[in-house]
Amino acid sequence: MQCKIGVFSCQAYDRDTLSQAAAQHAGAELRYFETALTQQSVSLCQGLDTVCVFVNDTLDESVVSALAKLGVRHIALRCAGYNNVDLKAAKKYRVCVTRVPAYSPHSVAEHAIALMLTLNRKTHRAFNRVREGNFNLNGLMGFTLHGKRVGVIGTGHIGKATAHILKGFGCEVLCYDPQPDSTLAIDCTYTSIHEILSKSDIITLHCPLNDDTYHLINRQSIGQMKDGVMLINTSRGALIDTKAMITGLKSEKIGSLGIDVYEQEASLFFSDHSMEIIHDDIFERLQTFPNVLITGHQGFFTREAMEEIASVTLANIVNFCQGRLSDNNRVI
Ligand code: NAD
Repeated sequence: MQCKIGVFSCQAYDRDTLSQAAAQHAGAELRYFETALTQQSVSLCQGLDTVCVFVNDTLDESVVSALAKLGVRHIALRCAGYNNVDLKAAKKYRVCVTRVPAYSPHSVAEHAIALMLTLNRKTHRAFNRVREGNFNLNGLMGFTLHGKRVGVIGTGHIGKATAHILKGFGCEVLCYDPQPDSTLAIDCTYTSIHEILSKSDIITLHCPLNDDTYHLINRQSIGQMKDGVMLINTSRGALIDTKAMITGLKSEKIGSLGIDVYEQEASLFFSDHSMEIIHDDIFERLQTFPNVLITGHQGFFTREAMEEIASVTLANIVNFCQGRLSDNNRVI
């Protein structure tokens, strides 16, 4: 088997794990590109069989058709979500799309819980105070998580793992999913989205981004929430209408916000902008709130998850080349 693979949005850690995984498959030849795959960079795909892409590569119709013209037959996502790929175009141009459906749901679930605990007990602020010799506790008061009601929206791999951890903390867990999981229903209560919004002390988002969930959290849904609610989003940025969220934070309807994803993250995340002027005023406004905690899409970023992503991605590519790809990892 001979397969030329272009890895886009490639960081040093991707190169390490993917080259280790590729060493198990003779004939898999990797070319690494730091740049994202976009209309501007698609010409780099000349001579490739497969492109290996991540969450902020843009595979709209123009890019997918250009890939097909260049002879690329396979888009191998090294992530679970596929909202950045125009699937209709992939079908039209007969380009196969694969993903890594469940590389380590626990890594993202644990990060969601880290955001909750940090926001609540303000460990990030306490760390800085203590290092400055300031042992004053004013402003650091949190709440006891035990007994709180947490709404989990989307109970797939990650939502389910999050719900299990929350049960361990002694929380009451309410869930919403159009396809409820009967095994989870033993411990948690499935209910309507309205009930989740209106009754939860904490709401955590674990559903995919699609036409139905775009701006799921908007002015209207924020209006239904309890005063002082904590909202956590480790799923996709555009689940939240950020402008409406800023209004909710200013009015103190939203008590705290923890996000690992942001709707305009593509131009910011995964690279160092510390010496630049950031022109995204909405993002900068979010940063001014003392009760907002933002991480740069790192929920997936554990050693175990990275190794699993690399090995499943390489297996998807090799299996596609050899005509024995399982439906499980195939999107189109
Ligand atoms: P999954 O496919 O296992 O689960 C998604 C669940 O959402 C499914 O049960 C589905 O029925 C449900 N769902 C669909 N539409 C819904 C709606 N309108 N309301 C409520 N639920 C709905 O996916 P997963 O592996 O649990 O991942 C969830 C999301 O997490 C992914 O789509 C991805 O965007 C995101 N993610 C983020 C990171 C990160 O690093 N922050 C890493 C991996 C995945």
